[in-house]
Amino acid sequence: MKVAIIGAGYSGLTIAKELEENGQEVTIFEKNDYVGGMVDTVEICGTRLEKYYRHIFKSDREAIKLIKEMGLENELIWPATKMGYLTNKRAYLFGTPISLLKYKPLNLIQKLRFGFNVIHIKLINDYKKLEKVTAEKWLKDRIGDKVYSQVWEPLLISKFGEKKDQISMAWLWGKIKLRSTSSTPEGEQLGYIKGSYQRLTDRLYEYLVEKGVEIKLKTKIQSIEKLNEKYVIKYQNENEEKFDIVISTINYKDFVKIFDKFITEEEKKKLERVNYTSARTMMIVSDKSFSPFYWLNIGDNDIPFGGIIEHTNFIDKSNYDNNHILYISNYMTEDNKLYNASKEELLKEYMKFLTKINKEFTMENIKDYHVYDEKYAQPIIECNYSNYIMEDKLKNENIYLCTMPQIYPEDRGMNYAIRLGNKIANEVLEQIDKREKKNEN
Ligand SMILES: Cc1cc2nc3c(=O)[nH]c(=O)nc-3n(C[C@H](O)[C@H](O)[C@H](O)COP(=O)(O)OP(=O)(O)OC[C@H]3O[C@@H](n4cnc5c(N)ncnc54)[C@H](O)[C@@H]3O)c2cc1C
Repeated sequence: MKVAIIGAGYSGLTIAKELEENGQEVTIFEKNDYVGGMVDTVEICGTRLEKYYRHIFKSDREAIKLIKEMGLENELIWPATKMGYLTNKRAYLFGTPISLLKYKPLNLIQKLRFGFNVIHIKLINDYKKLEKVTAEKWLKDRIGDKVYSQVWEPLLISKFGEKKDQISMAWLWGKIKLRSTSSTPEGEQLGYIKGSYQRLTDRLYEYLVEKGVEIKLKTKIQSIEKLNEKYVIKYQNENEEKFDIVISTINYKDFVKIFDKFITEEEKKKLERVNYTSARTMMIVSDKSFSPFYWLNIGDNDIPFGGIIEHTNFIDKSNYDNNHILYISNYMTEDNKLYNASKEELLKEYMKFLTKINKEFTMENIKDYHVYDEKYAQPIIECNYSNYIMEDKLKNENIYLCTMPQIYPEDRGMNYAIRLGNKIANEVLEQIDKREKKNEN
């Protein structure tokens, strides 16, 4: 069987690994000149560093398993991190029971309501009831408007912008469950590979090439034809190749354009119903630390970004020539005024607020900065998502899909890209097995 995979992110790389190990002939087509997709890194301060802040959780079993398989087990470290919450331009320690008790913006009753509600959410095992209602309604009914608008609403705004009131409670439930797996009394213990996740990507790439997987970089797929039960992929103008099975790991918006002729009306409706928010992430190299927190959630709605992630409060600054690395996280939709802002405009806008939060942090402290954009960064998970979640395979075709909106009720993440990749690869192997048995008979 010849299998084509479109996209060399962690989903595509995992599928290729599983299929190749089970005797299939695999070709990956990747539009970029590198593999790894969103787990991409750049050269900063003499080392590799992720374009987007990156960590894994203790419960990320599939990611940890892959790290072990690629021989990087001893390079995976689990530092404890501090989480903060910014309210009225003041940062408070957050995320542990003690820090909640000390959190001044809520009174005792509000703190108790918040704390018990989080415990309640963690104890819920079946998300099906939760997906019928928005996070906003479910939370307001239980903790009241004040606690909701003080704590949860800014977090939903930071991920979904103006779509925040459409988000299903099942999404937030998945997020809270996940984070609780890494909690310790000292803070969250998060996983990082010494020298960056680029090392994992490189090992995976070398492994696949050695096994015989063909990886065609700088090859953007724009259309696919079908001839005599084979899918014909044309690339780089002149070339074409035929495949028995195609697996797409790209976003639904582009998928619909490329695979239009193979999709039923019902499938199209499901695919088009899913929307995404985009990520515009600023990486700042500075000569000064901004705060004591790794992850500072922004609770003030007038601040135009969602979080300040100080990577060097997670991984020591000595790895970056003693510089401090900050990421300013921002998710938005196209109607946000900062969507098309230049990197300079973005910094100017952000600095108005950064200097208010930390008066000693000025433009002079910034040695370098970059902005990285991911258009389809976060699927928007609305109520009753299980009713319109896309199947893994197109009904009438040997075309599979393996991408973020199929991860549910958990949220997207490297671990889930790997888990879904393994699942899809196994479905493909089963189909091949059935076909072979049928041919034998
Ligand atoms: C800002 C940000 C921060 C994140 N932080 C974390 C984190 O800390 N921890 C964590 O676990 N996860 C994190 N994630 C999520 C994680 O990176 C993703 O869930 C995961 O990498 C998705 O992998 P994927 O293979 O499904 O998709 P992708 O990585 O997007 O791979 C898809 C690939 O398809 C290629 N492609 C697209 N169209 C075509 C085409 N027409 N032809 C050929 N190739 C094409 C793309 O170039 C890309 O390489 C973060 C994501 C973002 C945006």
